[in-house]
Amino acid sequence: MTSMYRPLVHLQASVSSKKIHHGDRGCCRYCGTEDGRLFRQAAHLIPEALGNRWLFSVDECDLCNQQFSRYEDALASALGPLLTLGGVVGKGGRVRQTGRTAGSTVVSHDRVDGKRSLRIIARNDKDYRDRVTHDGEHIFFRTPLPETPFKPLFAYKALVKMALALMPTDELSDYCDMLQLLQNRDSSVASGSATVGLSFGSIGNAPSMVLASLLKRIDDTLLIPKFMVIVVVGSVCIQLFLWGDGYLQNGVAYGTPSLVFKAYFPNPGHQDFCIAYDHPHDLDWSSAVPQPQPLKEMVLKFHPGTTEGEFFPDWR
Ligand SMILES: [Zn+2]
Repeated sequence: MTSMYRPLVHLQASVSSKKIHHGDRGCCRYCGTEDGRLFRQAAHLIPEALGNRWLFSVDECDLCNQQFSRYEDALASALGPLLTLGGVVGKGGRVRQTGRTAGSTVVSHDRVDGKRSLRIIARNDKDYRDRVTHDGEHIFFRTPLPETPFKPLFAYKALVKMALALMPTDELSDYCDMLQLLQNRDSSVASGSATVGLSFGSIGNAPSMVLASLLKRIDDTLLIPKFMVIVVVGSVCIQLFLWGDGYLQNGVAYGTPSLVFKAYFPNPGHQDFCIAYDHPHDLDWSSAVPQPQPLKEMVLKFHPGTTEGEFFPDWR
């Protein structure tokens, strides 16, 4: 997959990083306004609610920023449970919490002696027995997650917004359909043409990090999407393809890039930290009808003899 694409733009930041301001000042890349009074707010390239405190777009005007916030809310609802489990610090410096506080199972993230700790609390004995199983070797602890509703089409638009933020401005003329999709809240895409790949990486005491990468097709004669976009927020890796104008209406489903992705970032005084993401799970986010967030439950697979364990998601 990667040999068909070359990296064009790569932005990455974590706790010790300085702020990165991407784009050319003076003109909004989404609506074209050059009105200087409309560039007062700092526009986050990746939503702040997903934990981004470092990457900003200087060519996204305040009006577009306001319009896109609805899309970003939908994306944050969709990814909420994955971010909780990854301990991502969102807007206001708070770690998201998942679960119904009045319900029987709650997943929460705390900081104890400077280290993150994940707590899964099952309040009901019967529920607890149903959720713990074993295969003779491993113990499985399943944590159901709440069916938080989100609007898939809006979440998809939030991803398109990030993808277009990375694109060289001379390429944008081939993405009028996508720009229109962002400007018109009601505009939709054909069913099956908004495929998104989600994958989950290791959780634990990894520093907060974000990454946005745009890769371009090397050979234009190949019938593959021109661009591929990878966005990483902590424990979540998102992948999508971008074709050009015309493809959006055709409603042809092309699937997602299925790259098994590893992100490296500096860990001062230690070896670079690496998060290896699992194989992407394909989701169709073309629907404007709200649906439950994509994660059914998280499963902890634990070996009582070696005390080794791993977390993996169970998709709806
Ligand atoms: Zn604008």
